[in-house]
Amino acid sequence: MLSMVIPMHNESEVLEVLFPRLDEVIAKAGVTVEIVCVDDGSRDDTLARLQARAAADSRIRVLELARNFGKEAALTAGLDNTRGELIVPLDADLQDPPELILEFIQLWEQGYDVVYGVRTDRSSDSVAKRITAGWFYRLFNRMSDYPIPADTGDFRLMDRSVVEALRQMPERNRFNKGLFSWVGFRQIGVPYVRPARAAGASSWGSPALWRLALDGITSFSTAPLRIWSGVGLLAAVVAICAAVVLAVRVLIFGRDVPGYASLMVVTLFCFAVQMVAFGIMGEYLGRLYQEAKRRPIYILRNKA
Ligand code: UDP
Ligand code: MG
Repeated sequence: MLSMVIPMHNESEVLEVLFPRLDEVIAKAGVTVEIVCVDDGSRDDTLARLQARAAADSRIRVLELARNFGKEAALTAGLDNTRGELIVPLDADLQDPPELILEFIQLWEQGYDVVYGVRTDRSSDSVAKRITAGWFYRLFNRMSDYPIPADTGDFRLMDRSVVEALRQMPERNRFNKGLFSWVGFRQIGVPYVRPARAAGASSWGSPALWRLALDGITSFSTAPLRIWSGVGLLAAVVAICAAVVLAVRVLIFGRDVPGYASLMVVTLFCFAVQMVAFGIMGEYLGRLYQEAKRRPIYILRNKA
């Protein structure tokens, strides 16, 4: 069985186009399918329409979140409630072309556990979004020990074992894209052109994307906590150089402003000491943070 997981927030307009497209794909795929629709606190009639469809179609299951929890939470709720052996999260707006799932399944049959879509052409996104997305991937992959492939979204096919591994990660602040790559397994990308939204409007404004980016970086890197010892050591080096230069200057040219040299050196040293202290606290805090996330120590690919 294949489980599709579709988080939906105010997607009423798109439903009429979405389900016929899914039906076509399901007919070609030749597998049993369940469609887990997660209504993420929509304020339009998305939920009512979903329930009407579910009443007439036993493949459709509707989860109703109590309010808008955001896409990451909605997706997590969906993944937690799947029963299939294969799981595919996809967006409701058909920006993740469902036809690609057929290709995903072929690669899964060849032994891959995760088959993810890679957006080769982001021309359906605004210029600003493309540029900031580019920056984000570069920064994220520099700071995190677990790189995520650029231009991938949540659209992917996952084996049951991968979803079970994800469910072992109890952290609250969920950046799914990062978790998907953290768990490992045999992964492969399939390029595709990302079309524009089929209907309706995007729920993501710039503030929401900014929060997502911050969640991503803080969930997968403690670098911002740890850079301060480096800054402190650098400041200490500057302080020592300044001390030497100032001392030599006084010896050669005599005193200009009394007390300037000593004050300057003391100030620089104090700054350096404080930064090193911050850095040490950062090291402990970073470890504490990692412990608090309670991620599994290892994940088995197969249970013999
Ligand atoms: N979504 C959601 N909760 C939210 C925002 C979005 O479940 O708070 C869903 C939305 O219905 C869609 C998917 O997440 O299925 C992607 O959202 P959208 O198309 O608005 O984002 P974009 O493609 O513009 O990044
Ligand atoms: Mg979209």
